[in-house]
Amino acid sequence: MAQENRIPDPIAAGLASGWQVVDAATLTGARTIEADVAIIGSGAGGGVTAEILALAGLKVLIVEEGALKSSRDFKMREADAYPALYQESAARKTRDKAINILQGRTVGGSTTVNWTSSFRTPPATLAFWQREFGLRDYTQEALAPWFAMMERRLHIADWPTPPNTNNDLLRQGADKLGIPTAAIRRNVNGCWNLGYCGMGCPTNAKQSMLVTTIPSALKHGATLLTHARAERLVWQGDRAESLLCTALGPDGIVPTGQHVVVRARHFVVAGGAINSPALLLRSRAPDPHSLLGRRTFLHPTVISAGRFAQKVEGFAGAPQTVYSDHFLETQAIDGPVGFKLEVPPLHPVLFSTTMAGFGEVHAETMRQFPHIHATLALLRDGFHEDSRGGRVHLRGDGSAELDYTMSPVLWDGARRALLAMAEIQFAAGALTVTPVHEQARAYASWAEAREAIAALPMKPMQTRVASAHVMGGCAMSGDERSGVVDGAGRYRGLANVSVHDGSLFPTSIGANPQLSIYGITARLASGLAQQLTGRPAPRLEA
Ligand SMILES: Cc1cc2nc3c(=O)[nH]c(=O)nc-3n(C[C@H](O)[C@H](O)[C@H](O)COP(=O)(O)OP(=O)(O)OC[C@H]3O[C@@H](n4cnc5c(N)ncnc54)[C@H](O)[C@@H]3O)c2cc1C
Repeated sequence: MAQENRIPDPIAAGLASGWQVVDAATLTGARTIEADVAIIGSGAGGGVTAEILALAGLKVLIVEEGALKSSRDFKMREADAYPALYQESAARKTRDKAINILQGRTVGGSTTVNWTSSFRTPPATLAFWQREFGLRDYTQEALAPWFAMMERRLHIADWPTPPNTNNDLLRQGADKLGIPTAAIRRNVNGCWNLGYCGMGCPTNAKQSMLVTTIPSALKHGATLLTHARAERLVWQGDRAESLLCTALGPDGIVPTGQHVVVRARHFVVAGGAINSPALLLRSRAPDPHSLLGRRTFLHPTVISAGRFAQKVEGFAGAPQTVYSDHFLETQAIDGPVGFKLEVPPLHPVLFSTTMAGFGEVHAETMRQFPHIHATLALLRDGFHEDSRGGRVHLRGDGSAELDYTMSPVLWDGARRALLAMAEIQFAAGALTVTPVHEQARAYASWAEAREAIAALPMKPMQTRVASAHVMGGCAMSGDERSGVVDGAGRYRGLANVSVHDGSLFPTSIGANPQLSIYGITARLASGLAQQLTGRPAPRLEA
């Protein structure tokens, strides 16, 4: 308790100062709320948009299906955090159940639970978008000021603290093999180096939307509606005239039976990839080329676990601080699928549900937990012609589901990635390496692992695949035949609907996506603010 008192709680302070926050779980009757702009979702895209529009003097309403939590709710316990803060209790899966998807579901969205790695959109990705999707003004030069603005706003900077052992082993192994690595920039301010970012930051150091843009928007008169699920937009001609929302109970799951109608001049869809296309599908938004929900990307992620003699304790210390782009940069962007190497944080629930095996084998893995180093490979999907992403469907109850099939080119990338990671782990001194695959064992040498990995069947449910990066589904493009949204973030065929989140991206990013979303939506929101007010949009300050 004494410690809690020493950590200022900006949410409690903001509520005490009179922020307009409506918890839909408490509503006892129907409610109508009016705004200039209604933003659906309070994550990376929604948060940035809310701050810019509120500072521009517009009356902003933020609609969020999750709850408003604060640092005093974040107890560094997986059992509490996943059900409270994640989509589908962190057990969201692709339609075939072969890929586990992590996405946030709370005020601040995925930024409240993410691991703080901050990369600008790689120049090669932007060049591909210009060439293949007609996004001519998505140049490095044009975006640089927006990235710089968001880096200042969110304290994105080099992380001066030495990496934890988990990250350092990636560096050591790669060094031995002549594979370059570099340090990851992070969006933190006064970080305690705890390593529990995925459970919500208990010290408010992580510069998530929860402690930055959303409080600023609320301070400037925005209203936040929580526990409210946006069901569908209602059209009048080519305009959205209202948004129908279902109130959810305090558990954030069961509807209370109450509804909220939102009326606004403009609607910004920012529910994140998967949920944004689902909202637009439920609303039967125009989709003449059958593009909505398609080209949804994941950075499918495969994992390799190395056992070391020394303790690794991957739960302690900043989660992702070392990376290698060697396997992205050594091949053409549209050639064999490349992958980025990073190191995930290791916590017991996430680790035990990700590792393969059952019974005694699994129990033995868990006994080894403090000695395990894990490395992961993010496959850069969406660039090769046989990597076209997944498709969002609506289940019978209107909820979203992603159908995503790993194509042969992705499985080829997965095998190469498992090989590369095993070699690096042995070079770093691993006693054994276990590719996370149902048929793999702990291999005692690189020679043994190389032979075994070459023969492992690359198949759904056999090779474990996960993802915390969901992108696409409402792709933007300069050409209406390849994107439902134009380069200004405006949904085609609708006069007052924009999309401002990761669902905009026509391919995956090929790097952790948060800064791409911050920078690009800052530009889109500034354009929208100028259009709605007739004045230049305000610049965001740290
Ligand atoms: C565990 C984890 C670790 C990650 N680590 C990193 C990292 O280190 N670096 C990095 O760059 N990226 C990381 N990411 C990814 C990054 O956080 C996301 O790419 C980014 O936040 C996505 O932004 P968004 O605006 O598209 O959606 P989100 O941030 O997910 O926000 C969407 C919000 O909309 C709400 N919503 C959805 N549908 C509705 C609806 N119908 N009605 C009302 N509200 C709705 C959701 O509840 C959610 O709060 C991580 C993600 C996770 C989950």
